Amino acid sequence: MLSRQDCAKLDEQDELAGLRDRFHLPEGVIYLDGNSLGPLPKGAVDTLTRTIHQEWGEGLIRSWSEADWFTLPERLGDRLGGLIGAAAGQIVVCDGTSINIFKALNAAMGLRPGRDVIVSEQGSFPTDLYMIEGATGAAAGYTTRLLGRDSDNLADLLDERVAAVLLSNVDYRTGRLMDMAATAKAVHDAGALIIWDLCHSAGVVPLKLDDSQADFAVGCTYKYLNAGPGAPAYIYAATRHQDQARQPLSGWWGHAAPFAFESGFRPAEGIKRFLVGTQSILGLKGVEAALDDFDDVDIEGIRAKSRRMGDVFIELVEQHPHCAGLRLVSPRESDQRGSQVAFDFDNGYPVIRAMIEQGVIGDFREPGLMRFGLAPLYLSCAELFDAVQVMGDCMRRQVWTDPKYQTREAVT
Ligand SMILES: *Cc1c(COP(=O)(O)O)cnc(C)c1O
Repeated sequence: MLSRQDCAKLDEQDELAGLRDRFHLPEGVIYLDGNSLGPLPKGAVDTLTRTIHQEWGEGLIRSWSEADWFTLPERLGDRLGGLIGAAAGQIVVCDGTSINIFKALNAAMGLRPGRDVIVSEQGSFPTDLYMIEGATGAAAGYTTRLLGRDSDNLADLLDERVAAVLLSNVDYRTGRLMDMAATAKAVHDAGALIIWDLCHSAGVVPLKLDDSQADFAVGCTYKYLNAGPGAPAYIYAATRHQDQARQPLSGWWGHAAPFAFESGFRPAEGIKRFLVGTQSILGLKGVEAALDDFDDVDIEGIRAKSRRMGDVFIELVEQHPHCAGLRLVSPRESDQRGSQVAFDFDNGYPVIRAMIEQGVIGDFREPGLMRFGLAPLYLSCAELFDAVQVMGDCMRRQVWTDPKYQTREAVT
């Protein structure tokens, strides 16, 4: 049995423990939802305050040049690239994940003319599937093949009709981690292009976008990257595709000469053609502040702690006498798991609600998944112990018999 003392001992050896001070975490809260919305980095308060008072307040329109606002999407893209294995010039931070999925899909479809199938996964985060519907609906004749619906084996779905494959590197529900290089190879052997959704891996899993031969990738910055609610997302396009790639949202920020104010569209050179229009500078400054906190931290160290915390959390839940009804749906082997652990339980929703009431914040995904994000930058194993005590207490009290925990909030 793992005791609280055992957990505290692990924390004593934790080289990342000091990083917790970089975040504002409210008193009395154990935050296991950083995979949905990362907490506030203290540095973001300073960066945003300075941006508001000096760059916006005093600099006014001049700050587009003098404070380098205009080049933020590429500059932040290059910095983010250092964290996810992309050389400079292949990422822009901009727009939302859904919008970037639309651009990447269209670019990939355009690079594979004559092919009319998009492959994805039945269990994908729904917006990914919705954007496939939107992108293929606008281009008549496409069909979709889904892992988990049409076959459980990707190889069965790949052939000379497939233009692009859109997959999540880490599954948003189960946390299952995919091998990017092996997947890309299978997709390329069929002549198709791979588009990765990195929402649940960037910032916790060491990624090698270039080395794994990724074609396109997208992701958000407000989960494990902690850039703030609704902060801008990013899109990666491998250098080898940039000259030929086209995306249909041909706005002036993606123009070769935005300030020439020409009447026809000419795409910019390189990754800038994936920009559309004016970006939220405050949002981008949130990304800048969030990346500051990763500058001096080794992503391999983050990964090691993430794996350890996942193992500890699973063991704590499984050893708790009142948690016997919970079924682990995440991979048990930490090398196959992202940084979250999910359990299936019919009354998962009321249990999560009751836990939140006691300060342990996880979240719930239909139909019965209790999901816990384990973010190595600010969590400790002792907190995991305390969180599981609260969970066990909610199970013992059978909180689902109390109607007040049954009503659904707008955002679960
Ligand atoms: C969070 C998430 C999104 C979110 O898309 P937005 O456009 O930022 O709302 C998309 N895909 C996956 C896999 C996600 O986890």
